[in-house]
Amino acid sequence: MNTLAIDIGGTKISAALISRDNQLTQHTQITTPASASPTQLYEALVAITTPLKNHADSVAVASTGIICNGILTALNPDNLGGLKDFPLKETLSAITGLPCWLLNDAQAATWAEYDYRRETISDMAFITVSTGVGGGVIQQGQLFTGKRGIAGHLGHTLADPHGPRCGCGRYGCVEAIASGRAIAAQATGELAGKDAKAIFAAFHQGNSQAKSIIKHSANTIANLVTDIKATTDADCVVLGGSVGLAKGYIELVQAAMTQQPLALQVPILSAHYHHDAGLWGAVLWAREQ
Ligand SMILES: [Zn+2]
Repeated sequence: MNTLAIDIGGTKISAALISRDNQLTQHTQITTPASASPTQLYEALVAITTPLKNHADSVAVASTGIICNGILTALNPDNLGGLKDFPLKETLSAITGLPCWLLNDAQAATWAEYDYRRETISDMAFITVSTGVGGGVIQQGQLFTGKRGIAGHLGHTLADPHGPRCGCGRYGCVEAIASGRAIAAQATGELAGKDAKAIFAAFHQGNSQAKSIIKHSANTIANLVTDIKATTDADCVVLGGSVGLAKGYIELVQAAMTQQPLALQVPILSAHYHHDAGLWGAVLWAREQ
């Protein structure tokens, strides 16, 4: 039998069936409703699960936002219209009639990356640098979610107290400086209004402003990695996300890491899973619960 895997992101909701022998089929996606109204998310979940639920015996979900005791709350008011206290587990169990497991999306991706390396490591962190910056922490082979689901929200640690305001409300978060959204926001002059992808293209063409913005992002992530090493003594840190996996980016982070004290340096590896990390992580984690 299959697990119905669902990934609720800021811009799209994707779903697929994942079999016991790890075949992913019937991948489908819809646009995430940008509304604080629970009705719209409810209707989107009905639409995406209806064609798949009869082929599954459980549901595993990775979702943006804070997941605590089956309840979803958006940390960043720009996501899910600032939806608060949505009973995600109860809702999905009612819609599908199936048992349901939930994780934050970056925590799910963290579990997928750990599962891929579990024979050789026991302590790691995952950082996804994408539109935002998310993360997760594995300690002694356990995913560390915290009592309130907050553990591992590495993008909301401090990078610069004089930095710009983050979507979470704090000033100078890593996300407000290093994310794809922040990269785009820093562009001026000939790069003004361009998105992170276009700024990376300019970076590869040798544009000095693009080089400076991307390097600033990579240095910020290298400092975050150093903080993670100092806090958790991780065996490695895995970097993912559209910015984290963009050509040339990890090399910049690794180069910045060599400037840190030797005891605080840690191997920085590229993520194994790309777009479907949330789906895989949710399923792999649910199997162990
Ligand atoms: Zn923040």
